[in-house]
Amino acid sequence: MATEDLGVALAGERIQGVAVLGATGSIGGSTLEVLALYPERFRVVALTAHRSVERLFALCLRFRPRYAVLVDDDAASAFSARARDVLPEVVVLSGEEGLAAVASLPEVDQVMAAIVGAAGLKSTLAAVRAGKRVLLANKESLVMAGGLFMEEARQSGAEVLPVDSEHNAIFQCLPGGRLAGSGVRRILLTASGGPFRTWRAEDLVGVTPEQAIAHPKWVMGPKISVDSATMMNKGLEVIEACWLFGARSDQVDVLIHPQSVVHSMVEYEDSSVVAQLGNPDMRTPIAYALAWPRRIRSGVPSLDFCAMGALTFEPVGDGRFPCLSFAYQALRQGGTAPAVLNAANEVAVQAFLDRTIGFTDIARVIGAVLELEPTQQAADLAAVFQADASARRRAAMLIGHHQSDVRSCAH
Ligand code: NAD
Ligand code: MG
Repeated sequence: MATEDLGVALAGERIQGVAVLGATGSIGGSTLEVLALYPERFRVVALTAHRSVERLFALCLRFRPRYAVLVDDDAASAFSARARDVLPEVVVLSGEEGLAAVASLPEVDQVMAAIVGAAGLKSTLAAVRAGKRVLLANKESLVMAGGLFMEEARQSGAEVLPVDSEHNAIFQCLPGGRLAGSGVRRILLTASGGPFRTWRAEDLVGVTPEQAIAHPKWVMGPKISVDSATMMNKGLEVIEACWLFGARSDQVDVLIHPQSVVHSMVEYEDSSVVAQLGNPDMRTPIAYALAWPRRIRSGVPSLDFCAMGALTFEPVGDGRFPCLSFAYQALRQGGTAPAVLNAANEVAVQAFLDRTIGFTDIARVIGAVLELEPTQQAADLAAVFQADASARRRAAMLIGHHQSDVRSCAH
């Protein structure tokens, strides 16, 4: 058996210290499953969560990290009390400072950035500034502050490796990981089309959170599942691709591929198309990013070509999912516009999950916020956070008005 299969560190290779930000989430869980296959190669140094004390505690019992972070102060105190006798060696930290601290520890070589939403930006940037290998699942941080993010990475020498399955696929199809000088004509981002791909526009109005979260191909956290259902996820991914690979917006096309086997493709000037295929399971891109440039087992079974049936592709189509167009619009506008898009989306998705607004209101809120919010150059992080805060206020206001409209109609 090859050394790789035994999961031991290769001769001369240091054990890699890993911090998993967002350890209690879907990506966090898949990451820990891969890490568990290689106890001699990777050491879990830090695990973080927002406030799920029991889930983080169970993970700490299993993986024995040196640090545990709960962003919520009360949750951190509860965790400390719970851990005192059983896990006395674990240092418990709290707040965004706690996240940034573990992302920059000297004994951490790789940081899995798997917090959901804008809440992940500061800690992901801390990892970038500290020059870590950053395994990037938190696409929202690139959407909000892509220019600043990539410039920080250039300065610190951080390796930003995409975990998002489409971007991981493109990275695998693209020698050198960037478009410049590669003879690339365009990137083809595949999209499953989500649970409502074949629904009529009028039926989308009554969609419930349960229906939106039930993704046909991927098991994911609630926010990204709703994003997939509205197609905003693909919009965020178009922006993510432009920053990661140095592409222009007109070089990134989206193609519906319901089977989610082709994770994305790159078309070259000679009309060759290189695609990456695999089962829809995030452990594959996670293992690829962890071991790059080597390959290790991920625990994902081989693709069964004979059992899988036809692979089909279709155009995005017909305006039922306006969020994708909003994302292209914000990307072309540039500056703080993508941060505004992201903030409006986060507020609207949460309101939908809380049953305050309907499914089709998500796009309506985002469109209105994009139209009403002034944007400026994303000169520094302060400008980005200001745009984020202002867009959140605007979205909340629109949702509040919507609620009072609904109430007055009911009376
Ligand atoms: P999730 O909801 O399952 O998990 C989110 C994690 O972030 C949890 O550990 C939670 O405790 C933590 N968190 C939430 N709010 C926080 C806050 N305010 N401060 C600190 N931590 C907080 O989400 P997920 O599906 O694992 O997605 C994580 C990220 O990965 C998202 O950016 C998503 O777009 C991206 N992503 C996910 C998938 C997937 O298959 N799930 C695929 C591609 C990209
Ligand atoms: Mg994706």
